[in-house]
Amino acid sequence: MTENTPFPAASLLGYPRIGRRRELKKAVESYWAGRIDAAELAATAQQIQLGTAQRLQELGLTEVAAVPGTFSYYDQVLDAAAHVGAIPARFGNLLDADGGLGLAGYFTLARGDREQQPLEMTKWFDSNYHYLVPEIGPDTVFSVTSDRILRDFAAVLESGIETRPYLVGPVTFLLLSKAEAGAPADFAPLAKLAELLPVYAALLERLAAAGASWVQLDEPALVADGAVPAAELRAAVEQAYQVLGSAQSRPKLLVSTPYGALGELLEPVASLPVEAIHLDLFKGELPADLTGLAQALAGKTLVAGVVDGHNIWRNDLAASARKLDVLKAAGINLAVSTSTSAFHVPHDSAEETQLTEQLRSWLAFADQKAVEVATLARHLADAEAARPEIEAASRIIASRASAEGVRRGEVRARTAALAETDFHRAEYADRAKAQQEELRLPPLPTTTIGSFPQTGDIRSARARANKGEISAVDYQELMREEIRRVVDLQEDLGFDVLVHGEPERNDMVQYFAENLDGFEVTVHGWVQSYGSRCTRPSILWGDVTRSAPITVEWASFAQSLTEKPMKGMLTGPVTILAWSFVRDDQPLADTANQVALALRDEIADLETAGIKIIQVDEPALRELLPLRKADQPEYLAWSVRAFRLATSGAATGTQIHTHLCYSEFGVVIDAIDGLDADVTSIEAARSRMEVVNDLQSHGFSRGVGPGVYDIHSPRVPGQQEVTELLQTAVAHVPARQLWVNPDCGLKTRGYAETEESLRNLVAATREVRAQL
Ligand code: GLN
Ligand code: ZN
Repeated sequence: MTENTPFPAASLLGYPRIGRRRELKKAVESYWAGRIDAAELAATAQQIQLGTAQRLQELGLTEVAAVPGTFSYYDQVLDAAAHVGAIPARFGNLLDADGGLGLAGYFTLARGDREQQPLEMTKWFDSNYHYLVPEIGPDTVFSVTSDRILRDFAAVLESGIETRPYLVGPVTFLLLSKAEAGAPADFAPLAKLAELLPVYAALLERLAAAGASWVQLDEPALVADGAVPAAELRAAVEQAYQVLGSAQSRPKLLVSTPYGALGELLEPVASLPVEAIHLDLFKGELPADLTGLAQALAGKTLVAGVVDGHNIWRNDLAASARKLDVLKAAGINLAVSTSTSAFHVPHDSAEETQLTEQLRSWLAFADQKAVEVATLARHLADAEAARPEIEAASRIIASRASAEGVRRGEVRARTAALAETDFHRAEYADRAKAQQEELRLPPLPTTTIGSFPQTGDIRSARARANKGEISAVDYQELMREEIRRVVDLQEDLGFDVLVHGEPERNDMVQYFAENLDGFEVTVHGWVQSYGSRCTRPSILWGDVTRSAPITVEWASFAQSLTEKPMKGMLTGPVTILAWSFVRDDQPLADTANQVALALRDEIADLETAGIKIIQVDEPALRELLPLRKADQPEYLAWSVRAFRLATSGAATGTQIHTHLCYSEFGVVIDAIDGLDADVTSIEAARSRMEVVNDLQSHGFSRGVGPGVYDIHSPRVPGQQEVTELLQTAVAHVPARQLWVNPDCGLKTRGYAETEESLRNLVAATREVRAQL
């Protein structure tokens, strides 16, 4: 073990890596486009890392290993795969002559190549970040195939700052991996743990040799109920850290467990033979048995994640200080940190100068969180020293509670008066009959999910309007022209239910946030969604109200252009919450109901304007699903109720659609049924209609549109292919229930492939209709 360096009293579990001005995004995309070479990209990456280290030092994280080495060119799970040689055989040899995986090979795993699909992408715990899923088979041979974390560590060390290298821990790495295609059905990647550990140990030894005092191994899989029973998980963790703990000459180890409480695994994790254990004490509770915890920790440092890393609100420092005091009184050796990496939040709230000073004072982005953990560490060392800052935080939080707009009487009165009937519509049989009379649709009605390609012209018109280069009237006219074009195209293609194409929307959530009270949007508040993709979540800070109709003018203009039914298009309450930074001073369920009521009013206005079909998208319904099974029923109950509150005011003859972007229904199928939408469109093309089996066995009785066109790739499905998918669907689900539509919105597609694909979709529908 290296010299006797204590764990830093204050640190962050992780820091944004995309750069304050998205420098990494720009450099990575330039590299992909061939505008810069690998050396230039590496230079930018190093500048970002050095900038982070210097910034965090300025903010008070000055101790050795306080700066987390959580930088990544693309994704931290991909990084772990790259370092341990988990490179699927299907890619052939991606290694350079020296046996290392260079940047080109690394990005091939992330983005695919001419022959190979990239690694699959999926959500990282209960966040909106997506990681790449490693593929591991019985024959995978692990070895150190990258020294990037060593080089990055050394480069920052050269300028005098010793960071704390980070790796996804071995157990989490294997639990997040999937079995390589062709592996035996009973093979699980966790079976490879014993083979993987020596490679982690080798990396640790090299990091120690490079001068790293501490290394962070991140094990969030330990806080989620997954496929592996708790006893097996416990055995795996104990095995892993017995081996790593006894590695020859290694750095000291921090095992971090963000995103929730360890539950049954607390005692075994606290007892691991490493030097520091991180617990999420923001989302997770203080452990009940502190004496037991202190004993299990014996001599280790507890890195207390009391500052929320996942959301943007100023920490209640007094409450955090109380938690720390309780732990300290139990004789536990403490350090202060965030509950999760702060890469879920933007860099610096001070940059958002367009926000009121008051709102800004309520926020803590990553830089502000660094100051908060430093303050709390100071409190631990000397309670008097930090008192002014802690009291100031309490005053600001108290002022937030009483600030104008945070609680609005009329909103509160309305939610308090809600009755059970507000969550129910007429019986489905009656609705179906009334709707068919209104709409007179053919069997297998054709429609799309909402957006049409967002062309360069649309985006530049919006940019010019935002800069004031064109007037609001001119912008509106440009969007109307676009809507005319999209409506004509759908008429020409022969669609039964039309959409306006959503050209006026920058983003399906931000658009509503900009038009509802209770929200603000940021200018620099980008956070990484996956790879170089970033989103800019809005801030939902106050009670939500709708001061004026939002979509009605667009929808009725579009309806005026056609005799066919035009779908009104709204984003659902759960998705609006999931893709925003949401106030943390009341239950999410209450906030969801406020958003739902605003949408309910919008639906009423759409109906008045003559819109007969309204789609309320909920692609994020599954995303907020709690990681612990015990917490899931409550979440599903309130999220379903919020959707129903939004839609249940609709007349019996108004057809409510919803859209979900995924097909692995699992635990959410009851909830989806519970939404009680008249028509549900879902992703199905990639899985070749597997979803219809689930629908059939579940007895799903209302309208359903399993996607027949995979919009995630530019590939055009042929008519024959769509016909076959539809025939599969008809074989499982009664034809009167079936709709025909693509998998998702078309906004990322180009017009050429879209037109051809949609033409095939309509032709295939006519073919299958004739066979009914
Ligand atoms: N109506 C939206 C669109 O078509 C739905 C997008 C989504 O499901 N993510 O773009
Ligand atoms: Zn979708």
